[in-house]
Amino acid sequence: MERTFAIIKPDAVERKVSGKVLAMIEEAGFNIVGMKKIQLSKCEAEGFYYVHKERPFFGDLCSFMSRSAVIVLALEKENAIADWRALMGATNPANADAGTIRKELGVSIEENTVHGSDSPESAAFEIPYFFSQLELV
Ligand code: GDP
Ligand code: MG
Repeated sequence: MERTFAIIKPDAVERKVSGKVLAMIEEAGFNIVGMKKIQLSKCEAEGFYYVHKERPFFGDLCSFMSRSAVIVLALEKENAIADWRALMGATNPANADAGTIRKELGVSIEENTVHGSDSPESAAFEIPYFFSQLELV
């Protein structure tokens, strides 16, 4: 079993489609081992996305991610990291395959509904950024 980290981003919570995202996650066979609704500060968003700090969209991305609530998730499954990336779809919803979350629900390259860890190293940083051991069940 492998664990990955996911966020249901502000665009999805605002549009009340977080339930649809959670249904797609469960239908794909993931176990939700951690889940909470929180609102990030700009500073917390910057810390989370620090690998992107030199990219031109960093400021906009951190403003977007902190503008309203998100749902953070720890997901467990065999091959969870790659399978969650596949279910999310391409970064730009316009390029995402049919049936993926970003194709079905994404708004734009920035407001693309979900986040997912891209490697075991990312998951190992991202899960404990939000969850303590006691919150993972
Ligand atoms: P991901 O791993 O598929 O989420 O994509 P990245 O790690 O490359 O980028 C992180 C997040 O930054 C994306 O999910 C988008 O929300 C946002 N993002 C990526 N590329 C762009 C871009 O070109 N413009 C803007 N405004 N946001 C972007
Ligand atoms: Mg990424």
